[in-house]
Amino acid sequence: MLWKTAIRHLSGKGKSAKLQVFIFHRVLPETDELMAGEPSIKEFDWMVRFIADAYTVLTFGDAVSRLQSGTLPPGCACITFDDGYQNNATLAAPTLKKYGVPGTFFIATAYLDRQRMWNDKVIEAVRQMPDGEFDRTPYGLAPCQLGSGVTRAECISQLLDALKYLPHGQRSELSQSLTNAAGIGESYDTMMTPIEVRTLRNSGMEIGAHTHTHPILSGLPDNVAEAELARSKDELEAILGEPITSFAYPNGNTSRDLSLQHVAMAKKLGFRAAATTDWGIATMHTDPFLIPRFTPWDRTPRRFALRCALAMGKPFKLTNDATA
Ligand SMILES: [Zn+2]
Repeated sequence: MLWKTAIRHLSGKGKSAKLQVFIFHRVLPETDELMAGEPSIKEFDWMVRFIADAYTVLTFGDAVSRLQSGTLPPGCACITFDDGYQNNATLAAPTLKKYGVPGTFFIATAYLDRQRMWNDKVIEAVRQMPDGEFDRTPYGLAPCQLGSGVTRAECISQLLDALKYLPHGQRSELSQSLTNAAGIGESYDTMMTPIEVRTLRNSGMEIGAHTHTHPILSGLPDNVAEAELARSKDELEAILGEPITSFAYPNGNTSRDLSLQHVAMAKKLGFRAAATTDWGIATMHTDPFLIPRFTPWDRTPRRFALRCALAMGKPFKLTNDATA
């Protein structure tokens, strides 16, 4: 109640209202040392309990529309998820329902139904590799000794950094070669199925687009980038039978991963709002196609709440290198 009073007071309302958009990717069954930034379901539960108690939670599309029209109630937040992980449907959504709040799920459509994104291929391949020498020269890195010289988490972090900004096709090939080297099969249960997407929508959640194959848009020719946006919108509309009007840019850092022509594409294709991964709090003056997001990294409820209140009290814009 104390936090609710503080956040409502700090956020303002109507034309001076501020909007906090939380960003998540995976919600894990339990803490995973190879994905240290991702909350376990236990942590996610207290986060959502706090958010539901302290804020008025709206879907992303609804909140941005009301922010623009100057009709946002005080203390509003959105809870968003990028990429389309199956644990969003099996773990996150039941938690949102438990506390009576909606979420917005941005889906990269190429991975629906048993596919896996390049970064997850890297993580799961390194998880499966035996201890000992790992020749990383094909990936532009020095060989390393798994299990003694370098931890698996460090090895993964170095591989993700080495591959992230390679041309999209090369990044896909190299992550697939790692999967093959680790002897992992071709069918995964990492991402949601189209039926799970439909079930989420039918339970009052918003579904947004996140491109088809999750490329970094700034590395693509314009026609290819536009086709990526259009395909994810078209496929989700075919699954749900309704317009998709919210979008999140892959990787989403405005200083590196997208530029104004991608904003123009999103508008042209009929989206009405779009989210970046820049850290910040939105106001009425924020471009609705460049809505920043912010989730405190704290893993204790009190510190998490304090950082939310501080963010609302002093809107800021920082770039963030940590999100995918
Ligand atoms: Zn993403």
